[in-house]
Amino acid sequence: MNVLLLGPQGSGKGTQAKRIAGEYGLAYVGTGDIMRAAVARDGDLGGHLRPYLDSGTLVPDELTVALIRDRLDDEDSTPGFVLDGFPRTMAQADALDALLRELDRTLDIVFELQVSKEVSLERLLKRAREEGRSDDTPDVIETRLATYHRETAPLAEHYRAQGILVGIHGERTINEVFAEIQQALEQVSVRR
Ligand code: AMP
Repeated sequence: MNVLLLGPQGSGKGTQAKRIAGEYGLAYVGTGDIMRAAVARDGDLGGHLRPYLDSGTLVPDELTVALIRDRLDDEDSTPGFVLDGFPRTMAQADALDALLRELDRTLDIVFELQVSKEVSLERLLKRAREEGRSDDTPDVIETRLATYHRETAPLAEHYRAQGILVGIHGERTINEVFAEIQQALEQVSVRR
């Protein structure tokens, strides 16, 4: 089973993606985590990525797609993956479709975690106080949310057209959101 999550920063997408991966034995593939790990290793790749991450702007598609291709190749032997944070642009969505065809895999379901701009902003500011991530400053948060609504939110239509989009009301507790996700995943496994 291959699962994708869409949703603005602060929608709880990362939390739910990791929980799905844990519960169903799938590989968690989060581009934010992959990129932050590269920055922490501080090699050439990290040096190249750091300015984008620090300013909350998108890493160029070509580089992002290359990173994801490597990772999905690595996960070849797992029963499936949960993608979090990719794709974020239409070009990335097209590249993912092509890559999945190449790997002879398909996306089974795409969840869109729906939360208002106010709630995602509030949650990100709270995380900023608690975790002190370098891209959780108010200015950078604003850039990241604006980028999401401009570049990434329209991808929901791409997956709606493929008949695999499921909208989830995200302004509830982690357990309530996860219960709804599980119901949808169980329907997918019945259909397969
Ligand atoms: P995230 O933790 O998913 O919010 O990602 C943190 C940062 O990593 C983003 O603000 C971007 O700079 C970069 N990033 C993560 N995923 C992508 C992607 N699919 N395309 C471009 N940049 C990305």
